[in-house]
Amino acid sequence: MSYVLVINSGSSSIKFQVVDPASTASDTPLVSGLVEKIGEPRGKISVTYAGQKHDSNQPIRDHRGGLQLAVAMLDSLGVGPTQIDLIAVGHRTVHGGQTFSGPVLITDEVVAQIRDLIPLAPLHNPANIDGIEVARDLLPGLPHVAVFDTGFFGDLPAAAATYAVNREVAEANQIRRYGFHGTSHEFVSGQVPKILGRDASEVNQIVLHLGNGASCSAIKGGAPIDTSMGLTPLAGLVMGTRTGDIDPGIIFHLYRQAGMSIVEIDALFNRQSGIKGLSGVNDFRDLHAKIEEGDENAKLAFDVYITQLRRYIGSYMIALGKVDTITFTAGVGENDAKTRAAALAGLENYGIVVDPERNAAPNDDPRVITTDDSTVTVLVVPTNEELAIAQKSAEIAAQ
Ligand code: AMP
Repeated sequence: MSYVLVINSGSSSIKFQVVDPASTASDTPLVSGLVEKIGEPRGKISVTYAGQKHDSNQPIRDHRGGLQLAVAMLDSLGVGPTQIDLIAVGHRTVHGGQTFSGPVLITDEVVAQIRDLIPLAPLHNPANIDGIEVARDLLPGLPHVAVFDTGFFGDLPAAAATYAVNREVAEANQIRRYGFHGTSHEFVSGQVPKILGRDASEVNQIVLHLGNGASCSAIKGGAPIDTSMGLTPLAGLVMGTRTGDIDPGIIFHLYRQAGMSIVEIDALFNRQSGIKGLSGVNDFRDLHAKIEEGDENAKLAFDVYITQLRRYIGSYMIALGKVDTITFTAGVGENDAKTRAAALAGLENYGIVVDPERNAAPNDDPRVITTDDSTVTVLVVPTNEELAIAQKSAEIAAQ
């Protein structure tokens, strides 16, 4: 069996998995691991292999130290890079800008191009580059592949990708809608026609990726025609801690009236807003517990979330003209029947009839949750971004 090492390198953590690209979305990876608190005195690495979790606590100076430790841990478990048939390393990379519309074999030039895109993703691309450089040093004999979060949306129609911002300013600063969670939207929208036994070219889809970050997309015949995230992953739906779409005038108001700096407003919108900013919690399990206790703020947070979600569903129904499927995925979308029910309540006139029992039945498999006579088929399809990255990386490595 051949495997791909999938690396998701963040600013203070590295998530990694060893994945068989021929596996299915619900298969567990051979290995999954997490290096945490890089640069802090109390670093931690945990690796799960064959159902067993192995932990080790020690200071982890930097990404190099973290990845070295991860490789040593894999070696000690007998699944190190030279002990298994590892065919590629896939790197989750957040921003491909207008340079990359698909996965790419990493060369020095590609690293330089990803570096050039740092202004578009100042928090994410530098951490991704750290992971890429260290992994290329540690595993030089393997093909390394960058898979971009923005990739799937590179060919959005111009009218959907263009903001009504002064053209010269927009062009000079690469301002356009890029979209994110592309690996998930592509993976899930690729599964749907297979589940229904239909040809991808004939299915008009709405995909709702509702996790801690959340985004939705409208997909016609396999290609996205619109998506809710924009230049940055702050736009669109209400999220765990992010605002989603708001009046941009709020920025000027906070700057002028509240005397807040741009750095403070950035933190407010990205980390102290969304469900957490409205209710104090960002996990939907905690949110529902608070609603059950009669907490009004939690109830309002849920209602704001659902209202925004329905705005997008409605606008994508119009954009697509005819909708065949609506698919829920990611942490909230896969697990929270209350969110799914509220998002699509009362839409029978639009041909959407959710079956309450199918919706509520606990199940980890891809499934349909509408009645048999619902015109629009609503599905829950678990996403698996690591598997998608592994598949793309294996494809590129084989070229
Ligand atoms: P993700 O970013 O896709 O990993 O999603 C994480 C989020 O999914 C958490 O913050 C929760 O809000 C939500 N979530 C996870 N499990 C459940 C569950 N069983 N019920 C409701 N929400 C859940």
